[in-house]
Amino acid sequence: MWDARDLRVAVIGAGLSGLSAARRLADAGASVEVFDKARGPGGRCSTRRAAGHAFDHGAQYFTCRDPGFEPQVAEWVRAGVVAPWAGRITRLEDGRIGPPSETTERYVGVPGMSALGRALARGLDVTLRRRIERLERAAGGWQLRAEDAAPTGPFDRVIVAVPAEQAVPLLAPAPEIAAAVADVEMEPCWAALVAFEEPVAADLDGAFVSASPLSWVARNGSKPGRAAGECWVLHATPDWTESRLDADPGEIADALLTAFGRALGTTLPRVTYRDAHRWRFASTRTALGRPFALDRTSGLAACGDWCDGGRVERAVLGGDALAQALLRT
Ligand code: FAD
Repeated sequence: MWDARDLRVAVIGAGLSGLSAARRLADAGASVEVFDKARGPGGRCSTRRAAGHAFDHGAQYFTCRDPGFEPQVAEWVRAGVVAPWAGRITRLEDGRIGPPSETTERYVGVPGMSALGRALARGLDVTLRRRIERLERAAGGWQLRAEDAAPTGPFDRVIVAVPAEQAVPLLAPAPEIAAAVADVEMEPCWAALVAFEEPVAADLDGAFVSASPLSWVARNGSKPGRAAGECWVLHATPDWTESRLDADPGEIADALLTAFGRALGTTLPRVTYRDAHRWRFASTRTALGRPFALDRTSGLAACGDWCDGGRVERAVLGGDALAQALLRT
């Protein structure tokens, strides 16, 4: 009789999709180990602390459109990990501020977006600062190879939950899914992190920006549970980012600040802190078109927001769906 407790699973990537898969498998009794190259869990759902400020420089908020996501959101809200964001969200173009956008409920992590990853990772076996370079078939299962660590394994199943382009080399031993994932296209995003001496005089807390190098701006401090201070996150469009991928972060922050002033049609207060972060794989241009990829013969699988939607909701649901499929096989 097959028992989930006999299953040894490695998850590469402690973003929301990998953690959500790991959670479901661990809850079913499987032995699960998660590996991530970063210093903390959460991936692109992340909060950068600098000079006494905190910035949600990746995912800004999330929505809950699929009823299957509702129990998870309700649990996070009950636990105080997530709260609705009642910010004034609008559109912005050449100094014109549009009407408030329709009332989709928007949720954020509290006190920062990184709270989601921390909550999902609680109680899981997560090894951080470990970049997995490749997977090797060995006696008894899959071995994970990293440059600066001894091989780890064996595992019966390996879930690759990293951005598509980074997933392809790891999936090399399963050429069919590697080829499908290679067709996925992701887009980059420069994010400027800015603190001002005084509040920016604009009747908005977040805005989708048109006719500008910017695609989105947000008053970080308007989100629930944030510390006082006038912190903003400014996201560039994929095209603008693409043509400046290797630029200096300081110059990027200055250019996006200029664009911000122009989009608002106003003079900005004095800047007390500014930096920029480059997200090489931020959003999805061409998705895989299904919630996950699974090669039942080899036991290798992949999930991530790039599978079908490029959002927090899809990342969580995709990881969960993959774990359920593995538990059925
Ligand atoms: P990731 O979060 O990318 O996690 C992948 C993990 O894999 C990372 O932690 C990485 O360190 C790790 N990794 C990569 N390679 C390796 C390796 N070789 N070995 C070990 N670890 C590795 N979504 C929304 O719903 N709403 C928004 O407003 C929103 N805005 C966004 C704005 C920006 C600028 C960005 C960047 C993203 C935004 N998103 C938004 C998307 C959202 O962040 C993602 O959908 C979600 O976080 C993806 O989770 P994931 O687990 O699929 O991938």
